[in-house]
Amino acid sequence: MQKLVVLSGAGVSAESGIKTFRDSNGLWEEYRVEDVASIDGWHRNREMVLDFYNQRRRQLETAQPNDAHKLIASLEKDFEVTVVTQNIDNLHERGGSSKIIHLHGELTKVRSIKTGEWNSISSNPPAVFDIGYKDIHLGDLAPDGGQLRPHIVWFGEAVPELSRATKTVEQADILLIIGTSLNVYPAAGLINYTKSGCRIFLIDPQPIHVNAHNFTQIQAKATDGMRKLLEILS
Ligand code: NAD
Repeated sequence: MQKLVVLSGAGVSAESGIKTFRDSNGLWEEYRVEDVASIDGWHRNREMVLDFYNQRRRQLETAQPNDAHKLIASLEKDFEVTVVTQNIDNLHERGGSSKIIHLHGELTKVRSIKTGEWNSISSNPPAVFDIGYKDIHLGDLAPDGGQLRPHIVWFGEAVPELSRATKTVEQADILLIIGTSLNVYPAAGLINYTKSGCRIFLIDPQPIHVNAHNFTQIQAKATDGMRKLLEILS
């Protein structure tokens, strides 16, 4: 079976009603990234950061996976599929995908600040707790007595899943990039690890050029783009 790797970003969840960061009307127009998605922002104002992610969790509880998530899951019938997502939502899981690497963490999980930075070289990965869609507040503590924080990779922090994601992309026969502006590194750099002969498809309503052989952009929203891709691959 051919290996198909999906690199997804906020755009794949846009049609589920979850805002992207960089489009007009995106989240960054309401919040400054350095306030709510950076380790420095957390040190400056933990309450604001917790509140931002509490809101994201409440929104996720009511969101549903869209056809793009479901069609990505359906690729598992014909390909060995791994989804490498920058998204912190759980819509790929709920859409039926079975193998997912969350590069930037997961909204429904938390961990103690006492476990320090989560990085790929730590011999003991931190204990992570599932909180579902519940809020967390200042004073909510992990069993080790440390304040709970979102299990999210913030700007200024290491990306522990990067090496696993890189190895996965290196083996891909087909790479599907969907709903990402390719602005956030190191995730955007993953496309440089494809082997020669790997076919690269990109689905996004905006024109995005990738300098690679075998590159095809399907300029469309995620749901329409996935329908077109399935026709091409069938
Ligand atoms: P981004 O906001 O930089 O880019 C979003 C991309 O999606 C753009 O290229 C845009 O043209 C495209 N897009 C918009 N609507 C679309 C649609 N209907 N179908 C397909 N594509 C569409 O997002 P990014 O590249 O993922 O990087 C930003 C960071 O934001 C990531 O690190 C991610 O963790 C975080 N983020 C996650 C979520 C989520 O979990 N759902 C939401 C917002 C931001």
